Amino acid sequence: MSSFNIETLAIRAGYEQTHEQENSEAIFPTSSFRYQSAAQAAARFSGEEKGNVYSRFTNPTVRTFEQRLALMEGGESCVATASGMSAILSTFMALLKQGDHVVSSQSIFGTTKVLFNKYLAKFGIEVTFVSQTDLSEWERVIQPNTKALFLETPSNPLTEIADMKAISGLAKKSNCLFIVDNCFCTPILQRPLEQGADIVIHSATKFLDGQGRGIGGAVVGSEAVVEEHVRAFMRTAGPSMSPFNAWIFLKGLETLSVRMAAHCQSALMLAEWLSQHPAVEQVFYPGLTSHPQYELACQQQSSGGGLVSFRVKGGQSEAWSVIDQTQMLSITANLGDVKTSITHPATTTHCRVEPLDRIKAGITDNLVRISVGLESIEDIKADLASGLDRLI
Ligand SMILES: *Cc1c(COP(=O)(O)O)cnc(C)c1O
Repeated sequence: MSSFNIETLAIRAGYEQTHEQENSEAIFPTSSFRYQSAAQAAARFSGEEKGNVYSRFTNPTVRTFEQRLALMEGGESCVATASGMSAILSTFMALLKQGDHVVSSQSIFGTTKVLFNKYLAKFGIEVTFVSQTDLSEWERVIQPNTKALFLETPSNPLTEIADMKAISGLAKKSNCLFIVDNCFCTPILQRPLEQGADIVIHSATKFLDGQGRGIGGAVVGSEAVVEEHVRAFMRTAGPSMSPFNAWIFLKGLETLSVRMAAHCQSALMLAEWLSQHPAVEQVFYPGLTSHPQYELACQQQSSGGGLVSFRVKGGQSEAWSVIDQTQMLSITANLGDVKTSITHPATTTHCRVEPLDRIKAGITDNLVRISVGLESIEDIKADLASGLDRLI
């Protein structure tokens, strides 16, 4: 299977047809599995014989999703989780211990920051936040007990690009793991493992599903790390993906490459249009030649992605008025959906981040984030124009 191109893997990898000869993947909504004998049960429980045991950690539908995503990311193994957050939690709980240190980009998903500052801290794991783009800062704060480097690229919501090859070089030199949350790009646009990452994290909730139907996550990497550590933790702690959700994500993966191409095309058109609008102060999109890291973005990702952020001229009230004037767009913090969504990061996704940290991360009160969906781009522009035109 691994010799196929990614578009084919997304549709066909990881599935074994049952005796019913179905063409679309079956769902296995079963909590447990039956054994032919007591001896077989014992062999399954001890791990001597491979096979299904209990759906907290082995389920055929979930396994199909795991194998498909692993092949798409170019990793040996994948473990699916109940959410993107539980993918991050499971990775850190499995691989770190009290006294360990993590270096993370400051430009990460707001809830991940809360997880680090509030919960990992309780267990004696310290996280130092650095600039996404300043390599010397990463190098400076790495300590002998640093076990992992963590980032998302492009970042949410400012689309800052991290130099993955350079940061993976630092990780190798310091003997620590390099972990990349690949939620924004998906393996269709960017494969972090090929650029030196050890572990890729996903929120399947976003583009992998693509139609806003379910919550899920995944961790992809080497068999040694994913199976022996992350799945072992998952098996014990239980943040597992349900077979129903795995099936939804499988159907999502089937159309991922065509959806990503369409998201990227519309996002670029929207970013260009916003750049020309007199009520807009600044646009953030890696596919614009004006993006400060356009060259690096071109090397790492095959297209700009589906997320566009911009600062309106003014403050929170101007940003909110643009959002509130929309008739068609969904005012919601979710992203990666066929439905275009609009959000005010400072008061939603990043509201639990300390105000000073928020400003440091560039999440100003006049910032608006759009996850560009698959409606007509002309309708999306018209809906935004109604609020923007009033600000001129
Ligand atoms: C949404 C998101 C997460 C968390 O995923 P959930 O599925 O909502 O738990 C993690 N990282 C990024 C970049 C996200 O956008």
